Amino acid sequence: MSLPACPQCQSELTYHDGVQFVCPECAHEWQEGEGEASADAAVTDANGNPLADGDTVVLIKDLKVKGSSQVIKQGTKVKNIRLQEGDHNIACKIDGSSMNLKSEFVKKA
Ligand SMILES: [Zn+2]
Repeated sequence: MSLPACPQCQSELTYHDGVQFVCPECAHEWQEGEGEASADAAVTDANGNPLADGDTVVLIKDLKVKGSSQVIKQGTKVKNIRLQEGDHNIACKIDGSSMNLKSEFVKKA
């Protein structure tokens, strides 16, 4: 059985200390199965396609930017997204500004 990559930093230098998996690179510790569980709860786009870090997505509706009058138009291409925990599960940069988006309002490009 091969060891799973670290769910936090994707390092493959992980080891099993008898109780849990340990990542020597970021010091993350986790129980067997946890990584798979989070993989099951994968972030998916409006069509149900799984998204990954580095993907390019397209907005499927106009989105208001919180705390400003700016609107990001439907059809805007967003490159190099980062998945994150929470309600707004995509972190990205649009026109140089950091934004958080909901995966239900994008589709994979
Ligand atoms: Zn790690």
